[in-house]
Amino acid sequence: MKHTVLALGLMAVLSMPALAAEPGVSKQAARVHESALVLDTHLDTPANFQRPGWSILDRHDHDGDQSQVDLPRMKQGGLDGGFWVIYTGQGDRDVAGNRAARDHGLIRLTEIREMLAANANSFELATTAADAKRIAASGKRVSFISMENASPLASDPSLLSVYYDLGLRMLGITHVKNNDFGDSSTDAKGPEWKGLSPKGKALVAEANRLGLILDASHASDDVFDQLLELSKAPIVLSHTSSDTEFDHPRNIDDARIKRLAEKGGVIHVNAYGGYLISIPKIPARESALEALSEKYGDESARNEAAIQAYLKDKAKIDEQYPVPQATLDDYMRHLLHILKVAGPEHVGIGADWDGGGGVKDLEDVSALPRITERLLAAGYSEADIQAIWGGNLLRVLGAVEATAKKESQKQ
Ligand SMILES: [Zn+2]
Repeated sequence: MKHTVLALGLMAVLSMPALAAEPGVSKQAARVHESALVLDTHLDTPANFQRPGWSILDRHDHDGDQSQVDLPRMKQGGLDGGFWVIYTGQGDRDVAGNRAARDHGLIRLTEIREMLAANANSFELATTAADAKRIAASGKRVSFISMENASPLASDPSLLSVYYDLGLRMLGITHVKNNDFGDSSTDAKGPEWKGLSPKGKALVAEANRLGLILDASHASDDVFDQLLELSKAPIVLSHTSSDTEFDHPRNIDDARIKRLAEKGGVIHVNAYGGYLISIPKIPARESALEALSEKYGDESARNEAAIQAYLKDKAKIDEQYPVPQATLDDYMRHLLHILKVAGPEHVGIGADWDGGGGVKDLEDVSALPRITERLLAAGYSEADIQAIWGGNLLRVLGAVEATAKKESQKQ
């Protein structure tokens, strides 16, 4: 008996990672965080996979190269995994543009799979809810794949089944501009389709049939409403914040959050500063930033020295035209409000890491236990927190899998 107690105690000590060392995180919060399957629905890190000299196995510093996710920091922050994103910027919608998007999507997909293959001891592709639990229990990182902006499918929507076969499990319709499948929430030209296009509606049916989670982040309110109505399975918002806390077209109102929850869906709260607080657009700052990104070119091709030079130049612009910076307090305001509206069974985390997310005191994934600390302080239970960090997302994926099974039996 004594031996068992000793062994259990030793196991507890051994499994107690560096979490407790995180400043501002209590032992209790570290324990609750460690007990949860911690997933994030929007990891834009694949944009870094081809950076010269960059490896996901190395520890990076956010102040050093601006990256926010790598294996050492995932371990430190207790992040078990999430969705690696195939992000495609919306280009021209002509034949050449559609082909460029198609090629970009397929290349990004293979880059993600290449990263998984090269690091098979640390990462594993997940395609089901059961996979996620098994992979996390084995100590590897749970690696789902999602698509942000369906434009790679514009020239050939039947490619969706190819993506599915290669591991894709979540599909976001648009990015910041309208595309062939539907309207974006932020296209300066306004709505083009009044929601989903006919092609977009067909894509929704195909996603249900295959078993892909539909993601309404970035899409217009009309697209959100139509996805909710048309989809035979619950949908998600993979990285979206609250209109009540900060009115922005990219955020969502309380009535829609309630309807999402009623249909079994989940909103994953975004940590993108510009959607959390009002950051004034100073024209001189904007043009200085634009000139800067032109000077340094493609972000994902910059090496460490170029990043350092860029950051030095950017600091000068920040000094000349200062703007407010969102903080962990702002993030928690949005998260706690959304929790009140939706209930803890319908909320998750999608912080837009390596895609513009992250705020002061929540700069990279190593700081994730701070969210758990704040949730406990706000009165949420251990079970609530486990649901928020991953349980809710896996429930949606399970429902999507069940719908696909039913749909395939119909044929
Ligand atoms: Zn995004």
